[in-house]
Amino acid sequence: MLDEIAQQIKVCARCALAESRTNAVPGEGSPQAQVLFIGEAPGVAEDRQGRPFVGPAGKLLNELLLEVGLRRPEVYITNIVKCRPPDNRAPRPDEVRAWRDYLDGQIAAINPQVICLMGRPATQTLQDPKAAIGTVHGQGFEREGILYVPVYHPAAALHNESLRPALIEDFSRLKRLLQQRLER
Ligand code: SF4
Repeated sequence: MLDEIAQQIKVCARCALAESRTNAVPGEGSPQAQVLFIGEAPGVAEDRQGRPFVGPAGKLLNELLLEVGLRRPEVYITNIVKCRPPDNRAPRPDEVRAWRDYLDGQIAAINPQVICLMGRPATQTLQDPKAAIGTVHGQGFEREGILYVPVYHPAAALHNESLRPALIEDFSRLKRLLQQRLER
């Protein structure tokens, strides 16, 4: 089912982003992942390669995963929007609406224990449109049997070095919450 969704995304033309993308970026990782990571949208490197989190933010994400003992091939990584918005602008509401059934399908196919929402757009889309990431990061909430954990986006720490300790703590907390859940 994940492969079918990925094939649909690769040829999708449901919104205007199809015209400006080089490659759609469905996501990658283990179909049996216990943790699903969701970011905002592909950037330049991701658009070029058709793979998620392969630029500087992806390098930092890889380091954070290693730091908390998660290996990238055992998690699944995707974005709320699957095609790069021109000039890295924020996705528009119609573009966000257009992706929803793809992401719902990916969540259903993977059935993860934990969904990590990376950054404000993913958190406001999947938790609460008014959520402030500076307030809710690191605090898990449960919905329909899945634990959601909002964290700062790795790119935020690249732009603002002072956020790095909070980002590392977010990922440490994510690991603790996952362990607690698996021990239930
Ligand atoms: S952003 Fe989503 S809805 Fe828009 S073209 Fe890409 S895959 Fe399709």
